[in-house]
Amino acid sequence: MNAQENFTPALIPAPQEMTLLGNWFEWDLFDEVVCPPQSTLTREWILPKITPFFKAGTQTRTGTLLLVKDNLSTDRPESYTLDILKHQIIIRSGTDIGLQYGLTTLLQTVQLDSSTSKYYSPCLHIQDYPRYTYRGMHLDVCRHFFPVAFIKRYIDYLAMYKFNTFHWHLTDDQGWRIEIKRYPKLTDTGAWRSETLLGKSGNETPLFDGMPYGGFYTQEEIREVVRYATAQGITIIPEIELPGHALAALSAYPELSCTGGPFQPATTWGVFDDVYCTKEETITFLEHVLDEVIDLFPGPYIHIGGDECPKTRWKSCPNCQKNIQTHGLADEHELQSWFIKQIATYLQSRDRRIIGWDEILEGGLAPDATVMSWRGVAGGMEAAAQGHEVIMTPGNPCYFDHYQSRTADQPLAIGGYNPLEAVYTWDPVPADLDTALHQYILGGQGNVWTEYMLDEKHVEYMIFPRITALAETLWSNPEQKDYAHFLDRVDVHQKRWHQADIRYFPYYR
Ligand SMILES: [Zn+2]
Repeated sequence: MNAQENFTPALIPAPQEMTLLGNWFEWDLFDEVVCPPQSTLTREWILPKITPFFKAGTQTRTGTLLLVKDNLSTDRPESYTLDILKHQIIIRSGTDIGLQYGLTTLLQTVQLDSSTSKYYSPCLHIQDYPRYTYRGMHLDVCRHFFPVAFIKRYIDYLAMYKFNTFHWHLTDDQGWRIEIKRYPKLTDTGAWRSETLLGKSGNETPLFDGMPYGGFYTQEEIREVVRYATAQGITIIPEIELPGHALAALSAYPELSCTGGPFQPATTWGVFDDVYCTKEETITFLEHVLDEVIDLFPGPYIHIGGDECPKTRWKSCPNCQKNIQTHGLADEHELQSWFIKQIATYLQSRDRRIIGWDEILEGGLAPDATVMSWRGVAGGMEAAAQGHEVIMTPGNPCYFDHYQSRTADQPLAIGGYNPLEAVYTWDPVPADLDTALHQYILGGQGNVWTEYMLDEKHVEYMIFPRITALAETLWSNPEQKDYAHFLDRVDVHQKRWHQADIRYFPYYR
């Protein structure tokens, strides 16, 4: 084969250990897939992924792809080994997800020899496992709405780079996006806003597009997405924002506010004073909503938001003030903490755990709450010190709505500057975090807020290639990280994105 210079496959994220064996598996010789019994991986599922690599021919076919489930890796359930030999490929893992990661790696080894138009994979041995157990990507579907077909593609992108969690931001001021059968107005009213701000917020004379905008997912669609994600080894964490970012819900049910409204779903971005009232009626409503959410999402976590909740309305609300008195709370911060604890306790009774943004530390953390640290890493360090699990997602560099370049040709973004290199060189464990607390850092996540991302192509542009840097940060051995080598691999992947019609920020060195 001529493409010897490409002998080393461009794998992202880089595996923990790889040994090249100096020969090739020729995909035209591919013969059969053998899957283990009692596995979610089936021949029918795998074949379509590899058929582009070989032509049906008359030559003797001798290449087998063998998936073996063993019990070698119980301490690291996501680990796998991949052996590519001249006439056989063997993937071994103790779990279906490990086998799947082995398959994902295998697909990245395939190289086209342009002189023969045949596909080859280099013979090698890989032993691999992730550095972190939580590897997440988030998507805001409230500021702008994305249809099921794109959500599935987004999940494909996560699976391509061995992420295991999709954080689906389903409710916010600008739109409620999940059908709740008990409260139909949430989507009849709350999913639709009258118009949308054009350009940046904060302009003295804001301009609006005058176009009604909205959309939501039916429960049937959500089940379909959950099935799709599960088949790819991805857990979905749904986010139902409370007590702030609630304007869309309050538009539908203004009686859940402190003032009684009326309200409209927000047409601009930012933080709004009207939030859920902490009264009993609201808690009952949220419990009913969460009942339906729990039925739709089998994962262990529900994200309850908890961020950016102004206390203005609570300060002059008799119901909220009564709660402060009755429960002996010091102030509105403790009231927020009390409110979230009511929800956390309810979720615990339904065998679910809460995740919240780091503001849930204020006024005291609910027991068992996992903290998503977004305002830097201080909240995450504080939560770890209290023995709580932490997901690191500091604005810098984990917010993929920030600019990737300082050049003036970039599409409008919310601000900030998070270039590829910053994502690649980031370490989710802060350097000054006590070693004994490292165990509480479960991993990290890239967040994609969509105020300024109006369509799918723009979302792709903002996540590619940064998603690959985050993937390697969360999976690979930090001591083996090498930015120049990483960029060589990104070059190869960039060509594949181009072929797959995925839009990306063209990274030039
Ligand atoms: Zn109130």
